[in-house]
Amino acid sequence: MSNMFCFQCEQTAGGKACTMAGVCGKNAVVANGQDELTGALVGLARAAAKTSDPGIKADELMLQGLFTTITNVNFDIDRVNEIISEVRAEKQRLGGADDLPAADLWKGNEDIVSMRSTLLLGLRGMAAYAWHAHVLGKGDKEVTAWFYKGMRAIGEEHTPEEWLDLLMEFGRVNLKCMALLDGANTGEFGHPVPTKVTTNVEKGPFIVVSGHDLHDLKQLLEQTEGRGINIYTHGEMLPAHGYPELKKYKHLKGNFGTAWQNQQKEFADVPGAFLFTTNCLMPPKPSYMDRVFTTAVVAYPGLVHIPDNNGRKDFTPVINKALELGGWPQDMHFTGINGGSVLTTGFARNTVLSAADDVIKAVKNGDIRHFFLVGGCDGAKTGRNYYTEFVKQTPKDTIILTLACGKFRFNDLDLGDINGLPRIMDMGQCNDAYSAIQVALALAQAFECGVNELPLTLVLSWYEQKAVCILLTLLALGIKNIYVGPTVPAFFSTNVLNILVDKFGIKPISTPEADLKAILG
Ligand code: SF4
Repeated sequence: MSNMFCFQCEQTAGGKACTMAGVCGKNAVVANGQDELTGALVGLARAAAKTSDPGIKADELMLQGLFTTITNVNFDIDRVNEIISEVRAEKQRLGGADDLPAADLWKGNEDIVSMRSTLLLGLRGMAAYAWHAHVLGKGDKEVTAWFYKGMRAIGEEHTPEEWLDLLMEFGRVNLKCMALLDGANTGEFGHPVPTKVTTNVEKGPFIVVSGHDLHDLKQLLEQTEGRGINIYTHGEMLPAHGYPELKKYKHLKGNFGTAWQNQQKEFADVPGAFLFTTNCLMPPKPSYMDRVFTTAVVAYPGLVHIPDNNGRKDFTPVINKALELGGWPQDMHFTGINGGSVLTTGFARNTVLSAADDVIKAVKNGDIRHFFLVGGCDGAKTGRNYYTEFVKQTPKDTIILTLACGKFRFNDLDLGDINGLPRIMDMGQCNDAYSAIQVALALAQAFECGVNELPLTLVLSWYEQKAVCILLTLLALGIKNIYVGPTVPAFFSTNVLNILVDKFGIKPISTPEADLKAILG
């Protein structure tokens, strides 16, 4: 007998589904609550069909509700129930409609469940991007409208062909959403510039900020300026160091910790405060639980949550905890997983494209043989050392573009440079896949060919739902022969996987040696 059903992330139990409790730490009560919330959001989308503009409250609930269900975001059933109540109240205001019964989400023909789930998980990922743009005051009517369209589709019957069309249409809309967030981030914080980031921590009080929300980091930097507190990034917050309007704060010192899945070990007994602005939060251990804070849609029972007050947040509890703990009495030396203590970030589209002439010349004269985009999410599986080994084994005349937290597998390596261009270039967070796409399109234009004809191979690692929306965007753009690992998503049925292999040439990763040989010959 099962208590729950969730197969949305890469660490799902047995590679099939979590049915008794989540491997991530999510219990059955929360999992079932999140399914109920999803059904309520379908109800909200149905009610919204009666009006041309559902309004800002409904839009925000749609984004928050979907974002809440992403892996490692919300473990608090009270918060999930609050959102369900707000969604249902808003639905009634819009004229009412039936919710989708939670049990119907995962029921039906295996291939239909697969395609419906893929769309739902993609929508969850896109909601995170749209939310980050929204808190910076940016929105896009087409993107917002598609959340309602997509959630109504989740509650409807469609033929396999219609589901595939919906998935491709969604992929195109997600590109717009990533462009929206790129514009919001660069408009507010400037275009990232190459920046070296230390993994060491200075003595004295400090706060570690995790997640993706640059707006939260900016507010914390403002509130801690001149207070004798240093700020360190963690996980997906690392690329913040490249943004001029964030790096100008002298107390933004470095990056603490390696990949997100090491936090229970790395946070133990650390005399600093931790702020989680988005995923990936793991159930905190008693040794550091008193110093972990959440904000936005992140929630965990027993942790102090920093609320939003009309776009402003008061981080006083986090600041006071950092001052109370006092930090280490001496400077501390830490390294990445390969022993390096300097990480470089800030190679987003503007920086890479400003060097386009040099890049093109280097390709034409044979100095650069091939580009690899090795990016995506990190995770706990041992097979993920594939990505470290793959990067280590790439020949010296190749360039590694990277993004998202999968880079923590190799971003402390020094692989040298080609004509002054570093061989590893960190383009940013997962949403900066937009930057990678812009660079690929620009190179294709310069070489007068299609993206698939470029000397470029995408080698992606997936873990949670933002990887799903990015993959659908890449497929919608017609990008083929993408390597995906460490495992095939449980929500791809055999037939759906076969379609992706036949139509798009998707390849599960094998070994670094075999894959490099297949790519480079
Ligand atoms: Fe399992 Fe992943 Fe769902 Fe957590 S998010 S319950 S680990 S499938």
